[in-house]
Amino acid sequence: MTFRKYPGDLLLLGLFLLPVVIAAPALPWGSQGWLYSLAELAGVFALSAFLLAGILSARIPGIDPWFGGLVRLWVVHRWLGFSAFMLVMAHVLLLALATLPMSVGASVATLFPPLIHREVWLGWAAFLTMLVFIAPTLGFFGTLHYQRWKRLHLLSAPALLLALVHTLMLSTTAWVWWLLSALALAAIAWRKLLSPWLARKPYVVDGMDKLARDVVELRLRPKGKGIRWQAGQFVYLTPMDASLAAGYREEHPYTIASGSGDDELRIGIKAVGDATRALLDIKPGAEVRIEGPYGIFFDSPALAAKGADGPDPRRKQLWLAGGIGITPFVSGARDRIEAGETHRPDASLLYLANRPERAYYLDELIRIAEACDGFAVHTHYMNEHGVITRDYLAERCPDFAEREIYMCGPPGMINHLQTLLRHEGVPGHRIHTEAFDFL
Ligand SMILES: Cc1cc2nc3c(=O)[nH]c(=O)nc-3n(C[C@H](O)[C@H](O)[C@H](O)COP(=O)(O)OP(=O)(O)OC[C@H]3O[C@@H](n4cnc5c(N)ncnc54)[C@H](O)[C@@H]3O)c2cc1C
Repeated sequence: MTFRKYPGDLLLLGLFLLPVVIAAPALPWGSQGWLYSLAELAGVFALSAFLLAGILSARIPGIDPWFGGLVRLWVVHRWLGFSAFMLVMAHVLLLALATLPMSVGASVATLFPPLIHREVWLGWAAFLTMLVFIAPTLGFFGTLHYQRWKRLHLLSAPALLLALVHTLMLSTTAWVWWLLSALALAAIAWRKLLSPWLARKPYVVDGMDKLARDVVELRLRPKGKGIRWQAGQFVYLTPMDASLAAGYREEHPYTIASGSGDDELRIGIKAVGDATRALLDIKPGAEVRIEGPYGIFFDSPALAAKGADGPDPRRKQLWLAGGIGITPFVSGARDRIEAGETHRPDASLLYLANRPERAYYLDELIRIAEACDGFAVHTHYMNEHGVITRDYLAERCPDFAEREIYMCGPPGMINHLQTLLRHEGVPGHRIHTEAFDFL
């Protein structure tokens, strides 16, 4: 991921550094040795990162674009969680090293004091709880089924609580921890208790179009006031139909495939697991809940105006889609024809699929390209053409290296194309990607 700046970054940095700025001067610099203070500082950084990761799990619709979109927030959340874990290990190690010059016994006693020192044992309990929920995220013990991983991740709440009590029992600067904890608590309460009632809007399945044996497009109609969105954004969809074989009341992210002016919400779904497979059988009239929209895959002029690093709106575009990763581009193409605008930058879509039957929406996309100036569609079939090369790309889009490039598809495709484009001198800030497995 290329680093870009967004208006919310300063707030995140401020929240992360606040405890350090407040707590660092109160540390016993010099009196107990530098190593000891560094150990304490690592602990402060660790809790700060952990609390911020908790705050970032809030997922409030409409807020995420200020931070570069929900996918970027999840990446930051993951990095904060990982950093917190590493910093806790540094905290423990530095504490041991700080007392080692006295004796090995002193070092052991610092880490494992008599049980009366509850604050230290609470710290250990926090660390062990953290270890349990973070291990699968880091890929230890293989990959866990997503829903099981999500349930295990709930252990982050007690881990956070234990770490907080451990710190409050030792800290002289409590207010800053209370402040961050209140924000983290509010985030968790919103996410787990309030958002299912306040953020999810009821929709009804109006109909369904079969795009392939295992791919459908759902047409959804709002029961009351629906959501508004921009092309390329995504929603969380929660089926409320108890008769489904799987996925009842389970939220999953899907890109919106309708144009932004459409009254219906259309969502293209490929069956890859139990919840998506069950949706192939959902019946018209069934209720689903929609939460969102999230993300900023395409340009965001409002954000650019606020100083965010964004794509150049005057530059021509190249859209690279793989398989079901076509959905944001379907939305973009439908947007063009619905809006009937002529002043959008030219866009060339190159659709990568294994074989023609796997190029969903292709007929419609070709029809849109025939009707819209400045929009072209090309295909690349892996079974026929092999792995995509620079020459194949240059034949269809000779000025590809000069364009803003948007990619969505499986991680393998994105990695391959990213390497190819970087090799051709396309700067990272002009490549915009979305993979469908951000966790
Ligand atoms: C931003 C984004 C946009 C997406 N857009 C589309 C789309 O337009 N069309 C489409 O068919 N698919 C899309 N997906 C992928 C879709 O969310 C998964 O295929 C679906 O959640 C799989 O659920 P499952 O139970 O059928 O399969 P499982 O076998 O349970 O999961 C397969 C993989 O999907 C991911 N996944 C599963 N559940 C979730 C969840 N609740 N939240 C996040 N990731 C999850 C995990 O990486 C998991 O390994 C999108 C994903 C993301 C992140």
